[in-house]
Amino acid sequence: MANHKSDILIIGGGIAGCIAAISLVDNYHVIMIDTLSEPQDRIGESLAPTAQRILRQLDLLKGMEDVIHNNEPMYFKNKGMQSHWGSEQIHIIDHLSNPDGSVLNLNRKAFETYLRTVAIQRGVQCIWPAKLASQAYENPHWHIVAKDHKHKTYNLTARFVIDATGRQSHFARKQGVKRHHIDQLIACWATISDHQQNKMSRISASENGWWYSAVLPNNKRVLAFHTDSDLMDRKAMQDADCFLALAQSNPVMKSVLEKALGDIELHGIVAANSTCSQQVAGQQWAVLGDAAISFDPLSSQGMFNAMASAIQLKELINKFDVVNHPNTKNRHQFETDYTKQINQIWLHYLTHKDHYYRQEKRWKESVFWKRRH
Ligand SMILES: Cc1cc2nc3c(=O)[nH]c(=O)nc-3n(C[C@H](O)[C@H](O)[C@H](O)COP(=O)(O)OP(=O)(O)OC[C@H]3O[C@@H](n4cnc5c(N)ncnc54)[C@H](O)[C@@H]3O)c2cc1C
Repeated sequence: MANHKSDILIIGGGIAGCIAAISLVDNYHVIMIDTLSEPQDRIGESLAPTAQRILRQLDLLKGMEDVIHNNEPMYFKNKGMQSHWGSEQIHIIDHLSNPDGSVLNLNRKAFETYLRTVAIQRGVQCIWPAKLASQAYENPHWHIVAKDHKHKTYNLTARFVIDATGRQSHFARKQGVKRHHIDQLIACWATISDHQQNKMSRISASENGWWYSAVLPNNKRVLAFHTDSDLMDRKAMQDADCFLALAQSNPVMKSVLEKALGDIELHGIVAANSTCSQQVAGQQWAVLGDAAISFDPLSSQGMFNAMASAIQLKELINKFDVVNHPNTKNRHQFETDYTKQINQIWLHYLTHKDHYYRQEKRWKESVFWKRRH
């Protein structure tokens, strides 16, 4: 058994957790735990241009250029996207006039590993693997128990807890906070080798959902089909041949596959629906990133939101001094302001999402599209 005391405990060492830890560690003793001993390969590679402002502000951008992962750079600058949405015509969405530059197509595992490494270098006490097991508040401290795979127990005491556990929002759920689910979107994804000259991402609507494809820095291309969980034959989607056949039925994915070399690697099905936590802050705790609000991948804003909300959370923690002076007034103002900020982002996101889905009107009888109109 190991005992550790901190000002702030962050549960979840993904992008939200790491950016919060890196921005808070100058002023507080921060402990961060994660159930995974190292980040995993996962879908979600396109980092919105604006995110580079945050990376620069935290002195993280330069270091990303130097990271070589398995002989490949951590990212490459994406020239743009070919969109087949709403009509048969192709629309090119490029970033040439964007003052923040290009979308960065990340090796996601390398990026998350880098953030974890920097967090340790800057003084965050990181404990992994360690999974949240139980929690109890005894004024003015949280007492958290976390366990590793071999049941080693960590007793963690903190003045403030940040739940950055992603869509599961484990800490908030244990507090009895429910999640609101807007839809049932899921994504089935695979990777293939890619040696095409055209490195643009592709998005293409189809009768029962939509396809997405983007190039990764390691000459692989992600292919993902998004639909509602009740409209997908899960068994078929666990079979590479069935997935390939479905991809071939979409003309845009068919053209991508024509230039692919070697076998397809099917990675599985993940939740991709829009969800939000019904409460985002409480007695000396807050939820962050996907744990607070999770976006439809159509937006490509999940990572940026995780980073931007981490900076906003840090600013409010400092402004209302809720770690050192958690009196009723400070706590109330903190909870009100943080809730307001997250609600604003959520409402803005929902408006944009609806607007985008409503542009696709080609399949009037399709259940998938009817649900979104
Ligand atoms: C199909 C798909 C495609 C996407 N594509 C993009 C994209 O192109 N661009 C983009 O910006 N975003 C994309 N996203 C969204 C993006 O991946 C998320 O918004 C982002 O990962 C959120 O980061 P996070 O740190 O909040 O959560 P997560 O990345 O989920 O991290 C949570 C961390 O908490 C840890 N954890 C969980 N439970 C516990 C526990 N009980 N105890 C301890 N640790 C725990 C996990 O191991 C994990 O490391 C996509 C999402 C999906 C589903």
